[in-house]
Amino acid sequence: MRYTFTLQQQHYQELQENLIRDDGLERIAFILCGRSYIASDPWDSIPEERFLSRKVIILPDDMVLDSSLVHVTWETDYFVKLLKEVEEQSLAITIVHNHPNGHPKLSEIDKVNEKKLFRVLHNRNGIERPHASLVIIPDGGISGHSWDKELDTHPFDLIRVFGNKFKIFYPSKGQGDLAKAFHRQELAFGKALNHDLSKMRIAVVGCGGTGSATATFLARLGVGKILLIDEDYVDETNLNRLHCASISDAQTKRLKVDVLESAIINMGLGTKIKTISQWVESDNNTDSLKSCDIVFGCTDDHQGRLLLNRLAYFYLLPVIDMGLLIKVSEAEPPEISVLNGRVTVLYPENVCLLCRNVINPEIARAEGLQRRDPEGYRELKKEAYVIGEGDPSPAVMTFTTEVAIMAVNEFIHRIQGFRGPDGSASERLRLFISCEDRKTGGKIREGCDLCDKQKFWGRGDMEPFLNRI
Ligand SMILES: [Zn+2]
Ligand SMILES: [Zn+2]
Repeated sequence: MRYTFTLQQQHYQELQENLIRDDGLERIAFILCGRSYIASDPWDSIPEERFLSRKVIILPDDMVLDSSLVHVTWETDYFVKLLKEVEEQSLAITIVHNHPNGHPKLSEIDKVNEKKLFRVLHNRNGIERPHASLVIIPDGGISGHSWDKELDTHPFDLIRVFGNKFKIFYPSKGQGDLAKAFHRQELAFGKALNHDLSKMRIAVVGCGGTGSATATFLARLGVGKILLIDEDYVDETNLNRLHCASISDAQTKRLKVDVLESAIINMGLGTKIKTISQWVESDNNTDSLKSCDIVFGCTDDHQGRLLLNRLAYFYLLPVIDMGLLIKVSEAEPPEISVLNGRVTVLYPENVCLLCRNVINPEIARAEGLQRRDPEGYRELKKEAYVIGEGDPSPAVMTFTTEVAIMAVNEFIHRIQGFRGPDGSASERLRLFISCEDRKTGGKIREGCDLCDKQKFWGRGDMEPFLNRI
């Protein structure tokens, strides 16, 4: 079993600000967490219990009985009162405290004391699923472990703090040497980026023009594990923009994911690749997607985007979605009126793709019908009841590739920070005609269940999946 934790950056900041104060005393907080259970990850077939932060509760100062640099005692009734909410929503609870002296791990005394509390929880709630403890230190470090049903502890394999930045914490951080191939990159960005990338699991959904570029860039950067999802095979009309594909792949109708997989393995950089040659929404892909740290959305399909849009908020899985828009007149040669690249990062606190009008729900419905019931779709289309796909949309490799570069650079910045403190963009538009970039914040549409309230942020597993009816 692999145990991991994803903290929303806003929660991490809340913990830092409230627990670590100038008086140098220990303090207590709690995190109510959604859960993501993965029965088997696609690379190593290992199950995972992932905690997802939903809400931070700071223990009020008047509940602290005694506190010093190295210990804290507090009114534990406060913890017991939270257990009702934990039970009702099948949440996990995490006890957090700080170590003002910078000791990076929970002590044996911490474990003895917290075990008593988790025993109370077990007796009251009778829950079979794990709960957790975390400790934070003044330099920003965080570590912890989960408690299983036998009240044994398991250190976290990975703790993610995701928001404007993507920070990851893991036991071997900064240890060991990486392949020579990444040395020049280390000269630019330092060792830490390379180590972090080698630990990451990233999905590329859609392996066409932008997806094939994204996947090969991620492999060259040194990302450890990549999941490629696309149900389509190579067609001659793709060869103007598909990285790594050849005419023989089109003639033999090779799957796009297979072409990319062999190309990346041939690079010899040690990348672990898994492929899924199915439509992203197929039920059996759920675990594979959930087991990733980050998703790149490279599909131009509205229904696929609908799924990724929800996944980002429910599972705290940042989705870096991209698109290229080319609008032309019917003249010959066509006149280009719009030529824009777009990269949007979907995550709590950012505006979703529905509110940004990137997804058209009507087209998404039509695409769903076309997949489920092709015959019915043809009938309705004849009668003009559904919006069909238009003519093939224009696509030029230099622009699809540049959009992929924009997306991957946003990702590098969020880990490494090369653009400075305000360098992240929830959405960046590149206007290729005028050669300018714009950051577009977007506007939340009233009643959007993803952006408007925090109802589903970090909700994780529930029935129905992603609360889709
Ligand atoms: Zn402690
Ligand atoms: Zn929204």
